[in-house]
Amino acid sequence: MNEPTVQMGPNFIRNLIEEDLATGKHDMIITRFPPEPNGYLHIGHAKSICLNFGLAAIFNGRCHLRFDDTNPVKEEQEYIDAIKTDIRWLGFDWGEHEYYASDYFETLYRYAVRLIDKGLAYVCDLTSDQIRSYRGSLTEPGRESPYRHRTVAENRQLLSEMRAGSYPDGSKVVRAKIDMASPNLNLRDPVLYRILHATHHRTADRWCIYPMYDFAHGQSDSIERISHSICTLEFEDHRPLYDWLCEALEIYHPQQIEFARLNLTYTVMSKRRLLELVTDQHVTGWDDPRMPTLSGMRRRGFPAAAVRAFCDRIGVGKSDSVIDMGVLEDCVREELDSCTPRAMAVLRPLKIVITNYPEGRSEEFTVPKHPKYPEMGSRTIPFSREIYIDSDDFKEDPPKKFFRLGPGREVRLRYGYIIRCDEVVKDPTTNEVVKLMCSYDPETAGGKLPEGRTKVKGIIHWVSVPHAIPVDICLYDRLFTEPNPTGVKDVDYRDHLNPNSLEVLTESYVEPGLQGAKVGDSFQFERLGYFCVDSHSPTSDKPIFNRIVSLRDTWAKLQGEG
Ligand code: ATP
Ligand code: MG
Repeated sequence: MNEPTVQMGPNFIRNLIEEDLATGKHDMIITRFPPEPNGYLHIGHAKSICLNFGLAAIFNGRCHLRFDDTNPVKEEQEYIDAIKTDIRWLGFDWGEHEYYASDYFETLYRYAVRLIDKGLAYVCDLTSDQIRSYRGSLTEPGRESPYRHRTVAENRQLLSEMRAGSYPDGSKVVRAKIDMASPNLNLRDPVLYRILHATHHRTADRWCIYPMYDFAHGQSDSIERISHSICTLEFEDHRPLYDWLCEALEIYHPQQIEFARLNLTYTVMSKRRLLELVTDQHVTGWDDPRMPTLSGMRRRGFPAAAVRAFCDRIGVGKSDSVIDMGVLEDCVREELDSCTPRAMAVLRPLKIVITNYPEGRSEEFTVPKHPKYPEMGSRTIPFSREIYIDSDDFKEDPPKKFFRLGPGREVRLRYGYIIRCDEVVKDPTTNEVVKLMCSYDPETAGGKLPEGRTKVKGIIHWVSVPHAIPVDICLYDRLFTEPNPTGVKDVDYRDHLNPNSLEVLTESYVEPGLQGAKVGDSFQFERLGYFCVDSHSPTSDKPIFNRIVSLRDTWAKLQGEG
């Protein structure tokens, strides 16, 4: 597991907590991360996790992990397990403080009874459509339900019958009695409990009535004595309801603070849509390396430290914004640059025969694993008469600024010799280039340049044919072609899926030192980008390397060129 290194610049929530500790309003801070277990965590959740666990760490408090599991229909154990794995991977630990809203069902039920007893809640028989139409709108006040004035005794009786299973789904609800004319729609007698004959992943069939999220969430924070209940801006309008409930119930009142959620370009970030991508098989699963999920990013090879650095870099504010995907990719590059060993790989091979190199001979070059950090050690690269280069490092008719290989031209092999292309061999039927016949200059080994020899501008990567290890390569691009896939009017976000978001290469090779690389090991393939061994690689067969990220952001440039 990663060290939970907390990086957090100053932000308004941090300042506020500092003040609360200084004034003695709190002597210990308790935060929580409250996922609903109805999907895998995404990068937006990471922002919330880093904030809540980070604040707890900075101020020597604690952060609870609480599953807000009030909807039995959409929640599953698989999601709970995945969420825990992802938070641990990010480097955070909730210790013994793992809670479930479903643990509080009995307490929440008693809270509902308490409200009824105080004349502050009632059982309502309107259908959900009727409730909606009675609610009114932003410009029109709501109308009171005809059931609003039931007696306490009647309400109590009905609620206990609801609990006992006497009524079908949707036939009755419990509502708070607040104010049908309130300008805040959340206060127009919101629903607190509904009937749902469904098996819950933890409470099985013990309940057939379930608290609504708005009745469970704030009350769960109160039960856990959360000092600072941090949530995203869309809950600002719910705060008056949470306040009303705590006061009506006369229970501990956590302080809610809202911050702007994270939005990223070229992806979607709602669990409902991510689930759609999975079930419609636009991606291979929640952990598809193109997904903005933490499991997808982990599988892709993003280091947890890069995700934490990103969350720190974007900061915590009060106004909604969209962060460019390039910012995340830069964090990944920065993190990988210093700790990732270099290697050579050829993605689309073109064979070269070095005609003046003796057949059957080979030699080894000893080179550093990382050019800037010799302490990372060295590696050996074999060289022989036949090598592969990447096919786009050769052009038959090279343009002016092309400094790589062409007929009659010279190029330096990285860490090796200077070679010259003497002959281009083509397939007689397709006219495709199949092989290059080259000669090498024995005086130029390992970067040497004899006196008087003209310098060679281009340096290209290569691997020795008899020593090369065959691998599969997955190249990823943005999942969508639109920066804001859900923001285009009258167009389904799925219509913006990038048809070229995954390219699989099955004839690629890596240098022999990568034999035995383990799942999750990362390398910089020189000139090509950062790659890591995919967790779905077969154990005995060819490994799969995922491209984590290219060496620099080529996307902006390509977009500009149209
Ligand atoms: P979604 O809209 O994807 O379904 P959600 O908010 O319903 O997300 P929850 O499981 O309820 O998902 O989220 C758990 C916590 O993560 C909440 O406190 C929520 O505020 C926070 N969170 C979710 N999405 C983001 C985001 N994009 N940026 C910051 N925090 C987020
Ligand atoms: Mg939610």
